[in-house]
Amino acid sequence: MPNSASGFYGYKGKWASIDLSGRRVRVESADAEICRDFVGGRGVQARLLYECLRKNGPLKDPLSPENRIIVGTGPLNDSPVATAGRGSCSFIGTMTRSPEQAPWVPGHQPFYGLITHSSGGGLFHNMLKRAGIDELIIDGRADRPVRILVSEGNARIIDAEEDLFEVVDGKKTVRPASAITDYLARKYPGSSTVCLGPAGWNQVAHACLTADHHRNFGRGGAGAVFGSKNLVAITAFGRDPVSYYDPDEFQKLSRELDAFVKTHVGDPKWTASFRPTTGTTWWLDRAFSGKYLGKQGGYLPWHNFDEGSFDPTDYAKVGTDAFLEIAGKHNVCNRCRHVMCTRSAKVERGPYTGDGVRPEFETIALLINCCITDRNAIFHVNYLCNELGIDTMTFGSVMAGAMELAEKGYLKKFSNAPSFGNAADMIGTLKAIAYQSDPLGKLLGAYSDRVIAEVGADFPTADLQEISRCVTTSFGGLGYAGIEPKVFPGMFTAYGTSNRGRGDHTYAWTIQAEEGGLTGAGNLASYVSAGQAGKALVDSMGLCDFFTEDVASDLFLALYRSLTGFEYSAESMKTCGRRIYALERHINNIQGRGRVYDAYVPAKMTEPLTRGAHKGKCVDLAFYDSILDAYYEAHGWTKEGIVGDALLKELRIL
Ligand code: SF4
Repeated sequence: MPNSASGFYGYKGKWASIDLSGRRVRVESADAEICRDFVGGRGVQARLLYECLRKNGPLKDPLSPENRIIVGTGPLNDSPVATAGRGSCSFIGTMTRSPEQAPWVPGHQPFYGLITHSSGGGLFHNMLKRAGIDELIIDGRADRPVRILVSEGNARIIDAEEDLFEVVDGKKTVRPASAITDYLARKYPGSSTVCLGPAGWNQVAHACLTADHHRNFGRGGAGAVFGSKNLVAITAFGRDPVSYYDPDEFQKLSRELDAFVKTHVGDPKWTASFRPTTGTTWWLDRAFSGKYLGKQGGYLPWHNFDEGSFDPTDYAKVGTDAFLEIAGKHNVCNRCRHVMCTRSAKVERGPYTGDGVRPEFETIALLINCCITDRNAIFHVNYLCNELGIDTMTFGSVMAGAMELAEKGYLKKFSNAPSFGNAADMIGTLKAIAYQSDPLGKLLGAYSDRVIAEVGADFPTADLQEISRCVTTSFGGLGYAGIEPKVFPGMFTAYGTSNRGRGDHTYAWTIQAEEGGLTGAGNLASYVSAGQAGKALVDSMGLCDFFTEDVASDLFLALYRSLTGFEYSAESMKTCGRRIYALERHINNIQGRGRVYDAYVPAKMTEPLTRGAHKGKCVDLAFYDSILDAYYEAHGWTKEGIVGDALLKELRIL
């Protein structure tokens, strides 16, 4: 058993508290009890965020210096376990809030932003670990633009160079993301950087962070929080290897685990087998027509979620095969093996010629939802979003809403309002949002309830319900993911209850189970709640959604012990997942979230699909309500969706 200088194995055992207002950095030992109870990454970050909220009460403005943003890693990061290259970023979200009155929401209660955890891939997180720090806990606001450099177990605040900026439309702004990451890669050879783009600099509500090679902390507005702090980038460089509690045992068990992952990926009966070739884009065919181990499809959203089916001739232009045609070499996250979902892509001709990464299923689906059926345009929008620092998914939902508002005449004062199916309009609007360069861009860069209120102010006699009907992100939504929300009640529950906001698909995923016959309020609720607690573990460890093994299996727990020295039973590991999920929910309760948020169903979700395999389906309000009852029971929360003190004590949160 080797000595670990920090007393930690697996972890680096160091947290850096960075006060941008006072320009101070303090590096201290990580708290072993917190690491044991909250695992790492996402879980530890929730615990560290909670410290602020417990002391100060709700954070009313996510763009204020009081919003803490934490960037870090989990215990498995940089180990040879397949997919162990995913890192975490947590903060109070800028998109998921509804602080003012919203009369179109039944029983509206204000809330101020939900805890957002964002998982990012690439190299940055493993490099941060090599640089010797587990968590960067960032508070305050710098008085001038700064960046952070992490190396040799320390962090420094450095003034951001003028080279990182340019003037666009007469306004100083940061350069596009890859100009920043490339500049810092030249300055610190071998390093890795995560940065905001122009959208984050301009505090757009759905601005993301981008790391080298276009890997993102996508959802919720991390870019805007960086922008509000005058923080441009974080660069990490290091060579410190992972220390193992029992290196021989770890090596033996990691080989066994690797063989399992490899078997799954090699078996065509498992969906993992498609990932090395199609990445996530196999879901396009499955959602449209049922190909790739599916049933009949009919749930790829179209025309702002009005339909789940559309013309097959249009689909062929943007389906799985169309994106395979432009796919290049693998371009995977550090340490990823076997699963390897990411590939580069290249468009060789036409107005959207360029190199980049192949867009993910969700991005493509949500641009199809805007009726864009030009593959190369979708590739280009994905590229631009990465460069400008905008989350592709929320952008897709915001655009679909804007297109419907324009179709119904609510945006007629804007000569450049986008329209369904028009990629050139969309690209113009994307730039206007990122650079906040015109009134339409300013409107659509805000969180959704402000958009509805501002559009409503232009039409004093209009029914706000009609306006909000177009905006499916209303009442603090993150934006639905790429599965038509009307089709699967379990998935709708996953969307409605996710701790990071309405529309998130990553905390629970029910499609295979529901296509396989899972029904009934109790069963669906149990499936969703168990998925949410399980995903909290995967994120906290530093693994990817596509890791194919159970993190509470005997093999995995033995491997985890040989890495960290921490002993867990299957039950105690699952309790960690419940603890993390309950703590996040408790934070959201403090921020004002309760049943009213979960129960809100945007009006158009109750309008039946008129075509395709699921014709006639829509959200059944009474059934959804009964699932919510069962869901709260499954988590042990009150009927109003509140985590009670008894549970908080039982889970050692209080
Ligand atoms: S499967 Fe894909 S997202 Fe997951 S770690 Fe590998 S390359 Fe990254």
